[in-house]
Amino acid sequence: MADIIKLLPDHVANQIAAGEVVQRPASVVKELLENAIDAGASSIMLIVKDGGKVLIQVVDDGVGMTATDARLSFERHATSKIQKAEDLFNLNTKGFRGEALASIAAIAHVEMQTKNETDELGNVLKIEGSKIVSQEVGAMVKGTSMAVKNLFFNIPARRNFLKSNQVELRHITDEFQRVALAHPSIAFHFHNNGAEIFNLPKSNQRQRIVHIFGSKSNQKLVPVNEETQVVKISGFIVKPEFAKKSRGEQFFFVNNRFIKSPYLHHAVVSAFEGLIKPNTYPGYFLYLDVDPASIDINIHPTKTEVKFDDEHTLYAILRSTIKHSLGQFNVVPALDFEQDQNLETPYAYKNKNAELPKVSVDAAFNPFQDTPPKKQAAGFSSFKRESAMAGKAWEGLYVGLESEVGQDETLGSMQFESEAITGSIFEGKQESVESTATTFQLRRKYIVTTIKSGMVVIDQSRAHQRVLYEKYLKNITVKKAASQQLLFPIILSFTPADLVILKEIKDSLTTIGFMFGVMEGETVEITGVPILVSESEVGMVLDQLISDCQMEVLEDSFSQTDILAKTLAKTLSVKTGEVLDSNSQLALVNDLFACKEPQVSPFNKPVYVTITENDIDKKFI
Ligand code: ADP
Ligand code: MG
Repeated sequence: MADIIKLLPDHVANQIAAGEVVQRPASVVKELLENAIDAGASSIMLIVKDGGKVLIQVVDDGVGMTATDARLSFERHATSKIQKAEDLFNLNTKGFRGEALASIAAIAHVEMQTKNETDELGNVLKIEGSKIVSQEVGAMVKGTSMAVKNLFFNIPARRNFLKSNQVELRHITDEFQRVALAHPSIAFHFHNNGAEIFNLPKSNQRQRIVHIFGSKSNQKLVPVNEETQVVKISGFIVKPEFAKKSRGEQFFFVNNRFIKSPYLHHAVVSAFEGLIKPNTYPGYFLYLDVDPASIDINIHPTKTEVKFDDEHTLYAILRSTIKHSLGQFNVVPALDFEQDQNLETPYAYKNKNAELPKVSVDAAFNPFQDTPPKKQAAGFSSFKRESAMAGKAWEGLYVGLESEVGQDETLGSMQFESEAITGSIFEGKQESVESTATTFQLRRKYIVTTIKSGMVVIDQSRAHQRVLYEKYLKNITVKKAASQQLLFPIILSFTPADLVILKEIKDSLTTIGFMFGVMEGETVEITGVPILVSESEVGMVLDQLISDCQMEVLEDSFSQTDILAKTLAKTLSVKTGEVLDSNSQLALVNDLFACKEPQVSPFNKPVYVTITENDIDKKFI
């Protein structure tokens, strides 16, 4: 049999390697920025067009290259950073594999200009699909400019796999922020499609964070400092009260390299234990300096994971350092979650007449509710909710709709719709909407009601999420929602990265009732809000929307409308623990069963369970 094994030609090997190094434009950005840092640049400019699909350019003022080095830099395993295997254990540079430029050149059109300190003239190189197409000398300043055009031009499958420009831009922004945070002493500029997104002057760690995350982040930061034989820790944690529902502002840097470490993340989270609300994540910017010989950054091709020699010690030191900072800066006693909860005003009641509150028998009282609703009954929020709920029906809450549609008309059609559909699940006429004695609230969490075959137990929060979700989805896709114009516009400030997202979703937000005025610098003027959102909630709702959009991208399932509707439903729905009077319970049940998919919440959780007479009978055997 003839020999069949052949060595792959270089350009094929490079294309294969490229698959590992370059997943998307953001990977190129990371490699080029890191090369610029390794070259000792003091100022770095990133220029991007169309989410990096058309152009990614990085210009630095670093050491530059000689004519020969310029050519060699595109060869595979060509690196100036290590010479022997032992060097791997004493790395001070970002790169060391000598793979990045070779990989990028294999799948894009690259134009490099570079000049070192001593040469009179610099070099201009053009490479297309691993082939040098031209090399010329030219006058230029010291440093290197790398322009990467038409990424994946020769791998259409990969090119088609790329997401929208906005999504790719967001990945690029993430990479840029990580690199910029790791190197505050280097100035960075970032232009996208001709517009400047970031202008970060040389600064210290704190200023860099504030430049990236906006001036309001300054007061949220608590410094962290610890020096031991194993590790030197510096940086900041975000005060517990600003912990967010979504992940995103968690940054570990080990020897100035951004890393992901679920283990160390856990150390930080455990230090925050008891200080933050459930399902929120603490924010942190932590810089760890360790002996390069004690870590192995070689375990992952894109190098965001690191293996530490002594993880357990590191965990313990990190945890106690964070605890110390939290204590030292007196963050702990400032917390008062109880009060927070009571001050939350869930709906906009401005236009509601204040005639409803009166002494009445609690129709929602039931003997199964073993925790007396003390706090709620006395609290400000429950007063508001109860009084509003006492209206004709749930929909009566939606102040402002009256003027648009006319309340009776709305209610009429709602009830008609509900009845038509509930007919199938509810037993006869006595179970229909008019009836008042057929629901009760169990443990301020479930609504219980009867059906033909037995009973149904409904999760109140999930049910309301479903109702609101379908309502918003309809608003966004079908018709323009009612909006309430604000007498005094609300001015909110956002980080540059958040602003990019906000601008993207602005049109959809307008269809659900947000109105925007001037957007200038980091501030945005809100001139109108949807009728369901109160003025005090606007900031919170928008923050949540932005972070949810950000999260979804990372999970790679992006549908703007859906996210908006989900977020609004989640943020504005009735929560577990809230007391609902019998009218509201009934209205919720009716609205729920008028939904297209009452069985599941927008987040795919079951909304209700049915318990048949048969099930109950069995228990009595
Ligand atoms: P690595 O960074 O792993 O060494 P790269 O393929 O990224 O591999 O780069 C190859 C070599 O090209 C580097 O080792 C460096 O000597 C040179 N180089 C790349 N980018 C620059 C730059 N911006 N300025 C100066 N030299 C550079
Ligand atoms: Mg490199």
